[in-house]
Amino acid sequence: MKQILIAEDEERIAAFLEKGLKAAGFATTVAKNGAEAVIAVFDGNFDLLILDLGLPEKNGWTVLEELRGQGQNLPILILSAYDDIKDKVALLDGGANDYISKPFSFQELLARIRVQLRNNNCAPARSEEMLLSVGDIVVNLLTREIRVGDRFVELSAKEFAILETFLRAPKRIMTREQLLDRVWGYNHEPGSNVVDVYVGYLRKKLGSDRIETVRGVGYRLKQQPPG
Ligand code: CA
Repeated sequence: MKQILIAEDEERIAAFLEKGLKAAGFATTVAKNGAEAVIAVFDGNFDLLILDLGLPEKNGWTVLEELRGQGQNLPILILSAYDDIKDKVALLDGGANDYISKPFSFQELLARIRVQLRNNNCAPARSEEMLLSVGDIVVNLLTREIRVGDRFVELSAKEFAILETFLRAPKRIMTREQLLDRVWGYNHEPGSNVVDVYVGYLRKKLGSDRIETVRGVGYRLKQQPPG
């Protein structure tokens, strides 16, 4: 059974989380302040931490910093009463795995927990499983080398993640929301055009005809015959 530590000082929310998570088959422990949460992570064997930002004694920012600073690598999902993009970015850059704002839907929280536990459980793949290809685009996930036909292409981390998303579901049309979810991994401002911008970068590097726009829906990798 997966062990989840809930660092939350508001009893009502902690009880709600415990009840729901237990019903979903998790074992739960509650820490009522930040200091308790840090000690619990070092003492326990938790698979995931749900971390409220507004905690007494040590706030969530400090807890995150201390845990990551001391090499703890369990997935940390931040709960916050604030929905501030700058905070989200700083927290994600600071080692948080995900961020969810209050009030939140329990279904969404559960789905995000599943994603984290799934990522964390991924057994290291063997090298022959590290190649993804569609037509003449070949990506090595291990070395992050990308080949298009006979040329090598260099991509930024985000561009790489978008290409990887396309290659994992080559025939599928990806909506902007799906790409935002998979590549940026957290809730974005509605109307953000970051996906279009990055698809533009990718087209420049891969070839403008490699990604088609499906009007009103999203984007799809163009299937090209190899050679
Ligand atoms: Ca709180």
